[in-house]
Amino acid sequence: MAKAMIVTGGARGIGRAVALMAAERGWDVAINWHSNDTAGAEVLEGIRARGRRAIGLRGDVAQEAEVIALFDAAQREFGRIDAVVVNAGILAQTMPLARMSAARMQRTIDVNVIGALLTAREAARRLGRPMDQPSASIVLVSSAAARLGAAGEYIDYAASKGALDSLNIGLSKELAPQNIRVNAVRPGLIETEIHASGGNPDRAQRLSSGVPLGRPGLAEEVAEVILWLTSEQASYVTGTNVEVTGGR
Ligand code: NAP
Repeated sequence: MAKAMIVTGGARGIGRAVALMAAERGWDVAINWHSNDTAGAEVLEGIRARGRRAIGLRGDVAQEAEVIALFDAAQREFGRIDAVVVNAGILAQTMPLARMSAARMQRTIDVNVIGALLTAREAARRLGRPMDQPSASIVLVSSAAARLGAAGEYIDYAASKGALDSLNIGLSKELAPQNIRVNAVRPGLIETEIHASGGNPDRAQRLSSGVPLGRPGLAEEVAEVILWLTSEQASYVTGTNVEVTGGR
């Protein structure tokens, strides 16, 4: 029986790359997305074109019922869930903290932190298995911003990713006895459309001179690490946080 994965925010960017790469490697994949139905449908088609089963729901990870609906649909359709990639995340317009509205901060925390907690909670409830079976896996998509701080850009976003790093430490210990491994990745400057949300569509290119490897990263380069963390090749890896930053 094929293994099954849930990827939140799987319609575009890093989540899309994870979903398509997972399908390529034999996983059935369930994704959700916030509003871009066209992008979501294209990824579902891509999963099916690779011979795997696909489920897609439009939904907001900050809404408890919508997260539960995604897990219910995956469990119903696939009969199992083996890996969950907690990927959905947002950032807002670049500005110093002094200018941020409470509503903007609230939305960043609601999606990036509450959304991750709700997704991780559903995974915690459903992925446990005996120790003599291959482990289940949760991967949290944090950010290098958690340690760089995003000063003058989006400190609220950086703080939300710091919360994911703490979640990784605690949840990996909490779920180890249930044979669920929990890890995080910290992508650096990755070429996706997220930078346009901050008002800087060319941000990854513009800042790439400060990257030791001299270029922005690709979503696929992050997906490779995430896929490895979910694989049996990473069977003794839990509670770690992998930098995917080109050395930044
Ligand atoms: P992206 O290209 O903007 O894609 C984000 C995806 O998440 C989209 O499919 C979007 O849905 C979905 N999404 C947004 N809010 C959601 C919500 N409330 N509920 C469900 N889905 C939601 O972003 P990305 O660059 O791939 O980022 C993915 C993750 O990597 C994020 O957690 C981000 O913080 C992290 N990250 C990115 C970078 C980078 O440089 N790109 C660096 C470090 C960390 P729609 O398609 O419907 O809009």
